[in-house]
Amino acid sequence: MLGTAVINPPPTDAPVLQGLWDSVRAGQEQLLLSPYLPASCAFLMHVTLCAPFLVLDVLGSVCQRVRSWRIEAGSPPSLRRWYDCFGRLLYRYLTTVLPATALFQTALRSPTFPVQAPSCWQLFVQVFACFLLFDALFFIWHLSMHRFSWLYRKIHQHHHQHHIPFALAAQDASSAELLSQLLLALTSAWVVGCHPLSEVVFHILNTWLAVEDHCGYNLPWALHRLLPCMGGAPYHQAHHSLHSGNYAPYFTHWDKLFGTYYS
Ligand SMILES: [Zn+2]
Ligand SMILES: [Zn+2]
Repeated sequence: MLGTAVINPPPTDAPVLQGLWDSVRAGQEQLLLSPYLPASCAFLMHVTLCAPFLVLDVLGSVCQRVRSWRIEAGSPPSLRRWYDCFGRLLYRYLTTVLPATALFQTALRSPTFPVQAPSCWQLFVQVFACFLLFDALFFIWHLSMHRFSWLYRKIHQHHHQHHIPFALAAQDASSAELLSQLLLALTSAWVVGCHPLSEVVFHILNTWLAVEDHCGYNLPWALHRLLPCMGGAPYHQAHHSLHSGNYAPYFTHWDKLFGTYYS
């Protein structure tokens, strides 16, 4: 396991994390073992993280300043689009993601809860390593779906119905694509050898970044403005508009390396 092999800091430098981890283990261990927890949390987390962008979209119809942050000129998506997308997401989670992840948790995974919490450094490096690995795996998978027309039609085309995406559309994908993304995220955390706490932080940040990628706004405080190695919403929106290029989800190095980068 990469994370545990490479990182070996003193574990006592994170009393806050240890306290948090102890309280989670003491009160919620039974809940954490529920096979329905991963899908339920993933759905609720996605919807919750989209809520600020719903507020922006509503404000955008009356506030010029909010409209000026939009990448594509024109009106923000209507409440009807949000509502329809929410219905599709709920249906896919209930019919596919929930049963599949419950089966995965029951049959293949036996979560363990170590006594020791990760140190802050350990948590940072594990989460960062997860992002680097997930970004590379997703780049390969996404590029393949665009290169092979059968994969595109059967799996990825549904997501490309949004030429101008909005936050909730980050997960408006076919059942197969939703499951493949989940598998890539779980695989990344497994290969890195994440502590459960690091894995939770990775999944939360991963959901947030995917939502931000699709939000349709080039916000003044967006992460890609601070970290030029990240593409952010303009980078992914270019992919939706052009139907090609910018295949990596977050970082730009793979696209630059393979000549598929569009600014
Ligand atoms: Zn695509
Ligand atoms: Zn997308």
